Amino acid sequence: ASLVSFEDVEVVYPGRGLALGPVSLSIAPGEILALVGPSGGGKSTALRLLAGLEQPTRGEVRRTTRRGETAVVFQAPTLAPWLSAQANVALPLELGGMAKREAYDRAAEALARVGLAGTERMRPAALSGGMAMRVSLARAMVTEPRLLLLDEPFAALDEITRRTLADDVLALWEVSKPAIVFVTHNVEEAAYMASRVAVLTRGPGRIAGIAQIDAPLP
Ligand code: ADP
Ligand code: ADP
Repeated sequence: ASLVSFEDVEVVYPGRGLALGPVSLSIAPGEILALVGPSGGGKSTALRLLAGLEQPTRGEVRRTTRRGETAVVFQAPTLAPWLSAQANVALPLELGGMAKREAYDRAAEALARVGLAGTERMRPAALSGGMAMRVSLARAMVTEPRLLLLDEPFAALDEITRRTLADDVLALWEVSKPAIVFVTHNVEEAAYMASRVAVLTRGPGRIAGIAQIDAPLP
């Protein structure tokens, strides 16, 4: 059973023609799918459809995940500046009704898992770009989503930070094995992290190909 599936999905923006499609694609539990392709190829549009932030113009998006079982991490971290790192990570748990003490304990664990033990009380402004992205990843994972969507999560970071973050994402994946769909321009990153790669083309956006990577996941 897939978590989300696209059936002949198309997105047309008025006056701009086809942004995506027709695309058929399904996301299986626990898989790591990379969406690669040129700028304007429809990758972000596909991600917004997967997140339920947008509806297709034609075709159907079917999902078996409930609201709250999908987490999204955007390229620019969207942390609340007035809250500490720990409070940011605890927030989705507290909003879900968890007691503050337990939410903070779990947030501390999640921060430790991405190498940020000791940063609990720091404010976002005091964090580097890579650290802020790690906090965003911890916040996304603390609710143990079944589907994690990452929109070019490492694009703004330097090469070395990208690599350690890719390893952090894989380490987080090991804990609860959510399906992960991530958008990237970086084919090397896709090959390193993904179990499947979907290539979206520009113009009349469509899937140019889907490559199954045979190498086992790390
Ligand atoms: P990618 O993420 O691969 O760069 P996008 O999904 O952002 O591609 O965009 C695909 C196409 O749709 C582009 O031509 C883009 O300009 C257009 N587009 C994306 N979002 C919108 C929008 N909200 N309104 C109008 N056009 C859009
Ligand atoms: P990326 O290429 O990094 O995926 P884009 O620049 O395509 O990002 O899109 C950034 C934001 O701008 C998205 O929210 C998208 O919906 C919006 N957008 C992109 N192209 C257009 C457009 N032509 N008209 C209106 N909004 C757009």
